[in-house]
Amino acid sequence: MEYRWPDFVEECNHCHACSLSETRTNVVIYRGSIEAPLMFVGEGPGANEDLQGEPFVGQAGRLLNLLLEAYDFSPDDYHICNIVKCRPPENRVPTMAEAKTCMPLLAKQIRFAKPKVIVLLGKTAYNYFLNTDEAIGKARGTFIEKNGYLILPTYHPAFILRNNTERITLWKDIGIVRSKMEALGLIPPLPQIPDMPSGRG
Ligand code: URA
Repeated sequence: MEYRWPDFVEECNHCHACSLSETRTNVVIYRGSIEAPLMFVGEGPGANEDLQGEPFVGQAGRLLNLLLEAYDFSPDDYHICNIVKCRPPENRVPTMAEAKTCMPLLAKQIRFAKPKVIVLLGKTAYNYFLNTDEAIGKARGTFIEKNGYLILPTYHPAFILRNNTERITLWKDIGIVRSKMEALGLIPPLPQIPDMPSGRG
């Protein structure tokens, strides 16, 4: 029998491959569209995500939504997920072992989502996804081509909530992603470049 998306969801929901499963309320898989040209990968679910079962539904997610809406992205355009699908206690950074244990599920998820562009949100996603120790500040804003995907690391929206002077950097990076997707014919061009929204979303 063919392995389909509902089978994948069931596999995730029954996963006990690491100890994060012992303290989770919900397995947090995705929001947006199952199949989408653009994928965002964050670190891991926080308290709100754990309760609601969807990624980026707290403060950081509201800021991300604000920026994406300003660039006229719709949920049909993107698939948002995380390096790990269960909340690390006290919102600590997932360990390398937890990230590695969860990676086969993320690999399957990518095969369902079929993105062309993958945006890595923050240092944890960048370091674990690309298996590097490099600082995010050095890598952000430039595409890396790997296995047929265009991968762009950038700042995590939670970092921007603490460092609003860098908002312009995240804004410009999402603009780079939009321009690339337009150039590849994945989304229609915008009639004019939008202004960066202020506020926290
Ligand atoms: N931060 C993340 O990295 N992921 C979420 O889903 C929420 C906050």
